[in-house]
Amino acid sequence: MTAGLMVTPLDGWIAGRTGAAGGRMTRAELEVYQLARLNATIAQVRHMSSFYRRHFAAMGANGLTCLEELADYPLTTPADVMEHAGAMICGSQGDISRVVTLTTSGTTGKPKRLYFTSSDQKLTIDFFGCGMSTLVGPGDKTMILLPGERPGSVGELLFQGLLGIGARPVAYGLVQNLDDAVRTMCREEAVCLVGVPVQILAMARYWENWKENRWAPKCALLSTDYVSAAIVSELRRIWDCEVYEHYGMTEMGLGGGLECAAHQGYHLREADLYFEIINPASARPCPDGEYGEVVFTTLTRQGMPLIRYRTGDISRFIVEPCPCGSRLRRLERVYSRQEGQVYFGPGWPPVTMAELDEVLFPLPGLVDFTVSIVDAGQAAELTLVVEVLPEALPLDKSAILFAVRQLPAIRLAEQEGRLALTAEAHCRLSLAPGKRSIRIVDQTGKEAQSAG
Ligand SMILES: [Zn+2]
Repeated sequence: MTAGLMVTPLDGWIAGRTGAAGGRMTRAELEVYQLARLNATIAQVRHMSSFYRRHFAAMGANGLTCLEELADYPLTTPADVMEHAGAMICGSQGDISRVVTLTTSGTTGKPKRLYFTSSDQKLTIDFFGCGMSTLVGPGDKTMILLPGERPGSVGELLFQGLLGIGARPVAYGLVQNLDDAVRTMCREEAVCLVGVPVQILAMARYWENWKENRWAPKCALLSTDYVSAAIVSELRRIWDCEVYEHYGMTEMGLGGGLECAAHQGYHLREADLYFEIINPASARPCPDGEYGEVVFTTLTRQGMPLIRYRTGDISRFIVEPCPCGSRLRRLERVYSRQEGQVYFGPGWPPVTMAELDEVLFPLPGLVDFTVSIVDAGQAAELTLVVEVLPEALPLDKSAILFAVRQLPAIRLAEQEGRLALTAEAHCRLSLAPGKRSIRIVDQTGKEAQSAG
């Protein structure tokens, strides 16, 4: 353990959950707990879910003798959830306290429904509270820039988690008006912000040009979206604040993992989730430390357990021990979602959303962007529309083009005559809720795919 660096509070919380004495556990103790929870979950879904009874029909009834045997079980895909969510529910509908409907990208996707009981939500509240104690303490005002109006929404669960550790949550919601969000932050003297990376960056950039900017937050937690290194470094520069990243998705029960003060990967929520990194082609686990698709199994979920659920995210386990001394596994920053890629044609390397983030977000005053690709036969037409604060106008379009030409895939495709680039800059003071997207449009103008 590095001197002065606090071990992640998740370590003690998870040790307590596994029944380890004295708030410390060994890796072996955690794995004994996980194996028992995996077997209990598999038995539960075989007994109560008609989907999993069929899905696991070819598997023996004896359960697992070691964690590695989980890899013999079939994966569960987002398509399974779209088609069979109702048949995945364990127990009665009356036990369900929260249903989340996720609209999926593309033209064919049905909505995904996820079902949670109140005990499932209680575990998420506890995770949020424990995780937030990495950033804030009793009395610290924390502004929640996430949807929180409905009971069981991410903002509301975070609100309760913060109350549980004695912090003072300020429910705000997604940023739709930068001036109002920044004024509220300063009026409330919020020590900490929690929100969507691109929205918090927009607030920081607005604040930087604002005359009354006497209050700056001390820390921020970025969540619910891919976090680019360019956004983190801009927030550190503008506010001189400590930036933490969270990894999670609704399917994980919203919370999946959180950085510690060492900022070297997400410590995983291992009492409630068992993570694997698999080779997407073979579905077999990758050797530790290699990149692959993130797959997880719920260990404590009551409403709708998920077994070997494919996230579509790419990452790897960090093999080296964390400087904070935690025993928990760490996941490297999720660097791209498989679907967030732009292809220029067969045999050409794709450009990922993550790569576009890294080259575009350093542009001064930029708060958001969208990318559209139209496949126009010989050459694809790629249009970048960047949203900037008024101070940044007029933004030289050549600066945008220069930024994206830093990406070899774009530079090459352009040189070979396979890609035509155009750029536009618009003024932005208000922000629409939601995530950024890559829109891939086919020749008929129909949206073929979008990702965020
Ligand atoms: Zn750590």
